[in-house]
Amino acid sequence: MTSVTQLSLSAASENRPPDHRDHTIGEVIATIVDLPLRRPHFHATGTHANQSLVIVELLTAGGGVGWGEGGTPGGTAFWGGECVESIKLIIDRYLAPAITGISVFDHERILAAMDRAAANNHFAKAAIDVAVHDAVARLMGVPVSQLFGGATRTTIPVLWALAAAVYEADVTDALEQLEAGRHRVFKLKIGKGDAGAETRRAIATATAIADHHPHARFVVDLNQAWDEPTAMRWLPAFQERDFLFVEQPVPAWNVESMSRLASRFDIPIMADEALWDFHDAFELIRRGATDIYAVKVAKGGGLRRAYKAAAVAEAAGVPLYGGMALESSIGTAAGLQLFSALPNLPFGCELIGPRLLAEDLTIEPIEYRDHEVVVPSGVGLGVEIDRARVQSFARRE
Ligand code: MG
Repeated sequence: MTSVTQLSLSAASENRPPDHRDHTIGEVIATIVDLPLRRPHFHATGTHANQSLVIVELLTAGGGVGWGEGGTPGGTAFWGGECVESIKLIIDRYLAPAITGISVFDHERILAAMDRAAANNHFAKAAIDVAVHDAVARLMGVPVSQLFGGATRTTIPVLWALAAAVYEADVTDALEQLEAGRHRVFKLKIGKGDAGAETRRAIATATAIADHHPHARFVVDLNQAWDEPTAMRWLPAFQERDFLFVEQPVPAWNVESMSRLASRFDIPIMADEALWDFHDAFELIRRGATDIYAVKVAKGGGLRRAYKAAAVAEAAGVPLYGGMALESSIGTAAGLQLFSALPNLPFGCELIGPRLLAEDLTIEPIEYRDHEVVVPSGVGLGVEIDRARVQSFARRE
């Protein structure tokens, strides 16, 4: 609620030119947008045909601006509990008031203020954190990657998700991607239904694709679908077929099982749903429950904490992988800025949100070429936001 004092202050300030050295956070505008997908996206725990996101515009008192994005798979709550409606509510009611008046350069103060105002809510905090990084980098005239030591690469290998969960459609999709030179590593999403049938479908899909293109490689994401005996029974098939890694075969809570599977199999086991922020990164790596660390900006609570988690993994000798939450070109650019600054990214990334979306929110889309995604090179996130598109896809209650 705006008090009389605040009103008179803002009325007075309107008559003065903005002080461009005033970097305190003035306004945070959170907008829910609903974007269509090119095709439905499948997980063992839910399927969605649209992607809803929260776009954050952060304004400093001196006229600085930064953009951020918060989104969960589908924008719904099935994946991690948060959804676009909760993200907007948490930002509007708790996070934005808590950080107003803090300098955008005081990053740890901003994070601490958000933590005091709301526990958890990583996706909501990430949306603001990304906007803060964009604003700071724009004020400094540098790309966001320079806030993390500078880009070590200009492009990043990017895999493609075969998320139709139907043999013929997935094979056709992969062959199209290979023949167009867009992708050569494929993620198979399986787990809903009989474990043996699902394993046979995945292996048959990989075999059919590799028969045409022997250099194609595969990973599999179970999205928590199996219990440990089922994983013990069927994971050898993926190991024998030389899949690159297996993602989250068992439920998120079962860290002990992840540790046992990681020690029993040569194929790397990667945690996803089990692992949120940099504290989890330390704990799961300490317990040997993840052979690869999937860096995720949104799930990790933003760029700064995702970077800290990556540093934990780097210190432990755990290789990195760049994960996604089906972001638009705004959130994808944020991921690319961070991932480009990570020296050890042997598994590449899966930042394919802009290719799954039928509509996007930036003037120029993120570029994909030769099996890689191009890191935007401009200041801030490196992408220009198309305000008209944000408005045209904004949800009207
Ligand atoms: Mg996953």
